[in-house]
Amino acid sequence: MSLAKRILFLNPPGKKIYIRDYYCSKVSKAYYLPQPVDLLMQSAFFNKPDYNILVMDCIAEKISETDAHKKIKSFNPNYIIGQIGSVSLIEDRLFYSTIKKENPNVIMACSGDAFLEKHPEKFQKYDWLDAIITNFFKDGFKQLIEGGEDIEGLVYRQDSAFITKNSKRSKPIDMAVPKQHLFRGNYRMPFANALPMATVLTNYACPYPCTFCIMSTLPYTTRTAASIIAELKELKVNGYKFLYFSDQTFFQSKTITNEVLEWMVEEDYGLSWMCFSRVDVLNEKELKLMKTAGCTLIMFGVEWAEDDLLTHYKKHYTTKQIETTFALSKKMGIKRLGTFLIGVPGQSRESILNTIEFAKKIEADYASFNVAVPRSNTSFRTEALAKGLIDDSLEVMDQSGNEVTIGTGVLSRNELKQLKNKAYRSFYFRPQYIWERLISLRNWTELKIHSKEGFYVLKGLFLKS
Ligand code: SF4
Repeated sequence: MSLAKRILFLNPPGKKIYIRDYYCSKVSKAYYLPQPVDLLMQSAFFNKPDYNILVMDCIAEKISETDAHKKIKSFNPNYIIGQIGSVSLIEDRLFYSTIKKENPNVIMACSGDAFLEKHPEKFQKYDWLDAIITNFFKDGFKQLIEGGEDIEGLVYRQDSAFITKNSKRSKPIDMAVPKQHLFRGNYRMPFANALPMATVLTNYACPYPCTFCIMSTLPYTTRTAASIIAELKELKVNGYKFLYFSDQTFFQSKTITNEVLEWMVEEDYGLSWMCFSRVDVLNEKELKLMKTAGCTLIMFGVEWAEDDLLTHYKKHYTTKQIETTFALSKKMGIKRLGTFLIGVPGQSRESILNTIEFAKKIEADYASFNVAVPRSNTSFRTEALAKGLIDDSLEVMDQSGNEVTIGTGVLSRNELKQLKNKAYRSFYFRPQYIWERLISLRNWTELKIHSKEGFYVLKGLFLKS
């Protein structure tokens, strides 16, 4: 009989395409769904023969609630690491509570934006919860299981108390390779030009202070170049064709990223990839290196068309810098996606309309219009509370704007939803834009992915508004 401990990595089922990872849950705005990165990174810490691992991503594998419970019962896990999201909190807490009723001996740890603050309250409210992973880049839960003393990034029950082990910014981590091959769902991103795709995280959190963003409250940490390169080698051998670097700011650690990208160029690595970065992080030389190493698209946080708002929310760059980096990226032949944030306190209709025009002016290839949400632990939440826009008990929220959480004080929730939909129509339904997108597609896979994502965007605009 095997003495291996059974551990389940679980993304619960849901009524919508929920993306619950990286402390930033939302409903997929179209059809895209990357690997849940919290679970992916935690998988790096657990190995055979000590652990028998099962991954159930019920969203990506389209597993129903009933089937999920049957599968869990049959696997009979000793431990579960599960995603939980503010966006789906009502469904998720019922699901986890039922698991505990049916499997009373299982120890459950959850990771997600819903559980980043007020930990004692969460443990009191949810008696099925044994631990909260507050830093998924650290092996705190494994240390807890194995009786280790070097526990970081975890809050857990001990007798009638709650033990909090915070994590700090640390030197580069030589992390083992995450077990991407165990994540067998249908993962996709709108800008992939080949499949299957893998999600890769080279660093954790973000060192910038943007006050509306949860990432600014987490301790920035990076992996070593050797650790990242080991993963890239394995992904290529295993047949992955496209990479999504889900770092919040790719190229933040200059020396490490340079080493990785130069390795990709020297090895003629050959996979295309996309990433997030900041307009003040990348210069012309770095953009050129990224292009040569296979980068096809960069997502930049543009947020607003007004320098006053960029300053107030501590973005630490200007609209001028945004225009410059968008132009440089275009010159290098890299596509640009701008992310925009509408609905901050006091924001007017005119400011939102300016933002939509700015998205066109900077010639973004794609635009993603998010609606501000008062996430736990952010100064933005404190601001919304102070202005009486929310109640402190607010837990359920969706950044995609599928359901708008708060008004701006000037605009109602309904007006914001209408403006978000207007933003999509105004940006995407331009004949010239549609023509340029169509002629930029290079292969059948890109056409298929774009058609499907486009269909889901349309469905969201016309069926739910
Ligand atoms: S740069 Fe981006 S990820 Fe980093 S804190 Fe600002 S908004 Fe968040």
